[in-house]
Amino acid sequence: MGFTSYMDTALEEARAAAARGEVPVGAVIVRGGAVIARAGNRTRELSDPTAHAEVLALRAACAAAGSERIEGADLYVTLEPCPMCAAAISFARVARLYYGAADPKSGGVAQGARVFAQPQCHHAPEVYDGIGADASAELLRRFFAERRLSP
Ligand SMILES: [Zn+2]
Repeated sequence: MGFTSYMDTALEEARAAAARGEVPVGAVIVRGGAVIARAGNRTRELSDPTAHAEVLALRAACAAAGSERIEGADLYVTLEPCPMCAAAISFARVARLYYGAADPKSGGVAQGARVFAQPQCHHAPEVYDGIGADASAELLRRFFAERRLSP
C-alpha cells in the first residue's frame, strides 16, 4: 500500500483561507483512508484567537467521531503547528502529523516550545515535516507581501 499525501487538500484549505483574508494555513484529518475533517484558519472571521486550522479540524473530527480522541488519525497541516495546536494534537491522540513549512516565528514542534519533546506531553505523534513545504511557504510569503502593499 503506497503513501497518499493529503497535503494538496490542506493547501486548498490554505488558499481558501487567504481568499477570506485569513493567514493561509490549512489542515486535513484522515482516518481509515478517508478525510474526516478539513479546515482553514478562521481567527478573524470568528473573532477567536484559537480558531487555527488544526483546532477547527480537530473539533470537527472529534465531533464526528463522538469522542475527544481520534486514535489512529493522520493530521496534515501546511505550516508547523504552534504550541497550542501541538498540545491539542497530543490531547486528541493523533497518530501521525505531517506538516509543510517550518515556522521559526510561531512553531512549537521543531523549535520554540517543542511540545512533543516535553515530559509533560503524554502522547506524541510521529512527525513528518517538509511535506509540500515550498508551496506552503510561497502562499504565506505572497499573503504577507500583498498585505504590506495594501493601504
Ligand atoms: Zn496553532
